[in-house]
Amino acid sequence: MPGSELHCPSYYAATTNQTVAFPVLQGDVRVDVCVVGGGFTGVATALTLAERGYKVAVVEQNCIGWGASGRNGGQMIGGIGGGEAAILKHYGEGIAKDLFQMGYRGHEIIEQRIKRYNIDCDLKYGYMDVAFKNRHLQTLDEWQAELNDYGMADHLRRISSHEMREVLGTDAYKGGLINNRNGHLHPLNLCLGEGRAAAELGVQFFENSHVTGITHGDKPQVISDQGKVTADFVVLAGNAYTQLENKTLSGKVFPAGTYIIATEPLTDREVADINPLDMAICDMNEVLNYYRLSADRRMLFGGRCNYSGRVPTNIKDSIFPRMTKIFPQLANKRIDYQWGGNIGIVLNRVPMLGRSSKNVFYSIGYSGHGVNMTHLAGEIMADAVSGTFERMDIFANIKHQKIPLGRKFGSNMVALGMLYYKMRDLL
Ligand SMILES: Cc1cc2nc3c(=O)[nH]c(=O)nc-3n(C[C@H](O)[C@H](O)[C@H](O)COP(=O)(O)OP(=O)(O)OC[C@H]3O[C@@H](n4cnc5c(N)ncnc54)[C@H](O)[C@@H]3O)c2cc1C
Repeated sequence: MPGSELHCPSYYAATTNQTVAFPVLQGDVRVDVCVVGGGFTGVATALTLAERGYKVAVVEQNCIGWGASGRNGGQMIGGIGGGEAAILKHYGEGIAKDLFQMGYRGHEIIEQRIKRYNIDCDLKYGYMDVAFKNRHLQTLDEWQAELNDYGMADHLRRISSHEMREVLGTDAYKGGLINNRNGHLHPLNLCLGEGRAAAELGVQFFENSHVTGITHGDKPQVISDQGKVTADFVVLAGNAYTQLENKTLSGKVFPAGTYIIATEPLTDREVADINPLDMAICDMNEVLNYYRLSADRRMLFGGRCNYSGRVPTNIKDSIFPRMTKIFPQLANKRIDYQWGGNIGIVLNRVPMLGRSSKNVFYSIGYSGHGVNMTHLAGEIMADAVSGTFERMDIFANIKHQKIPLGRKFGSNMVALGMLYYKMRDLL
């Protein structure tokens, strides 16, 4: 039975700077808005609503930050996760500026919250996309030109192959684009800090409370194993871990596993060689590697996507060779932590924000790019509750393809698709 799990044993769980603990949902609770899921989306939605004076409950089957939000790569990257092309295709170039602004709105929300609620989550600026191939270099040039058009030039630096060694200790890449508006942080401490802030504003959190169904109606009800919440609005924020609202959502978001290892802390010398600017890095392959240093200077190296639903028997054996291929100098490093989690893949990469009825909304499917987007989503969900649908409808109007024959077959189809991309990465 799902539910009642602690945070997975990760570097993040070992370095939380606060604990929050909440009761199990029992009996009947009445609020304005009930949120299902206590990750970034759920907590950000609840916090925004509480700031606006709404009475809110969050129902989480495990504990706050248990899902992807408490175990991700911590990379705060602008944009909406690769869905821009589909949105531009649907609405035309006229929406480009709004889209760009939305793509960085999550950063602003995170920054404001850290400051306002005094959240210690190691936020640092500095991020680089890195290119393996000539076609990647061309894409970097296009991205740079586009970002320049939006006044981002001061944040950007294009790195050629011969400059690469100055900024990263590897010869693996042909070039890169640094974007200092992006950065990295400790995601579990951010999520718990936001949870604490929301609770202080009166949000009622319930943990270890698996939601078994949502009853629609004028006053929708969220039903859990031992209780129920009656609300004016419900927001579903379960991302890759939800199986609710199947009539609307089934077959559109696919859970995919991605995995991270954390080395022992690196020496000053190793840091100066490997990542002297302390940036978060993403390569440009479809099946990508992503990595950064933690605040205590461990290499957190993530990668590999698994659509089969099978967790690799030994995450270290699977990720360590990927890391040492890029940084052979780390071959003797001890691995102190290894973990993984599920991202919610959507075929066209447009996050799925919308409604399954007039007062039940959902925000899921960030395709592995949710640190900033979930915070924007929280604001968009809160707007929808207040009756403003403008930004939600930008997403809701985009048609999402459904892979027929259900979740299992769907995942196999995505796995086949990934095989294709893995082969393409090799070319
Ligand atoms: C290993 C990994 C690395 C990643 N790296 C990055 C990165 O570097 N940068 C980036 O931008 N994004 C990254 N992502 C993606 C990002 O973490 C997610 O997009 C984001 O955290 C999604 O937040 P969420 O709140 O929507 O979902 P989650 O954090 O997954 O939370 C959903 C919650 O809903 C709960 N839930 C589900 N169903 C029910 C139910 N029936 N009843 C009660 N509760 C329920 C779950 O228990 C869970 O806690 C990564 C993801 C993973 C797994």
